[in-house]
Amino acid sequence: MASNLWVTTLAGLEVARSETWGTSAERAADYRAASPEPMANCPQTVLEPMLLGAARDMGADIRFGWEFTGLAQDRDGVTSVIHERDGEATLTVRSQYVVGADGARSRVLGRAGLTVDGPDDLARAANIWFRALKLAQMAVGALREWQADQAAEWEAAGSRWQDTGLVFTTATGTPLAARPIRKMFQDVCERAGLGRDWAPRDLRHTFVSLLSDDGMAIEKIARLVGHASSHITETVYRQELRPVLQDGAEVMDRLFGGVNNVLAE
Ligand SMILES: Cc1cc2nc3c(=O)[nH]c(=O)nc-3n(C[C@H](O)[C@H](O)[C@H](O)COP(=O)(O)OP(=O)(O)OC[C@H]3O[C@@H](n4cnc5c(N)ncnc54)[C@H](O)[C@@H]3O)c2cc1C
Repeated sequence: MASNLWVTTLAGLEVARSETWGTSAERAADYRAASPEPMANCPQTVLEPMLLGAARDMGADIRFGWEFTGLAQDRDGVTSVIHERDGEATLTVRSQYVVGADGARSRVLGRAGLTVDGPDDLARAANIWFRALKLAQMAVGALREWQADQAAEWEAAGSRWQDTGLVFTTATGTPLAARPIRKMFQDVCERAGLGRDWAPRDLRHTFVSLLSDDGMAIEKIARLVGHASSHITETVYRQELRPVLQDGAEVMDRLFGGVNNVLAE
């Protein structure tokens, strides 16, 4: 993070920019005076998997989707109750201590009968993480053509056009519903001679199988399709993935000259 930007849209006109997050001369001097370590930005999307991995390596049993609901303390320790949020399961956990690391509205704190004082609800903030993939030139060209087509649709619709700012719209500018999108997609597949048994999500499978077939490593494919780990990619796209265990053989062939060399000897 370096600056605060005021923009008309994410890729749009930059209206103003101000130094922030410790980058202005005055604040940067404060930080430098406070520690010999330089400042480092680390987004939550990068930091959290690192913390999670380190905690698991040290033996922590971390369960997502479970909610702490109550505790009972006795002379020897504490019994906590946790519920599976998307299911019926309930577990009790016996421990010497309970640490309330459950945020500003800590239920652990409440159940332990502890209170806090001081001002609260000081400000509202939200983090939004955008993943942006570079578009293939073919897609950029198609979008440019579509931009021209859409301008023609806008002109044809006249005063009926509603400017939603969306890229893909009906002929009057309003958002497309799921069903017409599926139908349009099937029309395109039929025209391409592929039949109508396809849905837009199959494009994702095609993307994965084309990359895999071209020899891309599964870790890279996982990053491109936005999976947190290649394990998910392997599970969901089992049929599309070509085993990428060819690298070893390819290196050996390059080093030792392949089959012709063996036959020559
Ligand atoms: C938009 C935004 C941006 C921020 N940016 C920065 C920044 O750049 N730098 C910085 O240092 N700080 C930043 N902060 C502040 C920082 O995120 C918080 O101070 C910090 O996360 C608090 O940590 P915590 O562990 O106390 O609580 P939390 O991070 O809130 O963690 C509490 C966890 O407990 C879980 N939990 C809650 N109730 C239960 C329950 N009953 N059972 C089981 N689990 C439960 C929650 O799901 C959550 O995972 C930001 C905060 C926000 C909202």
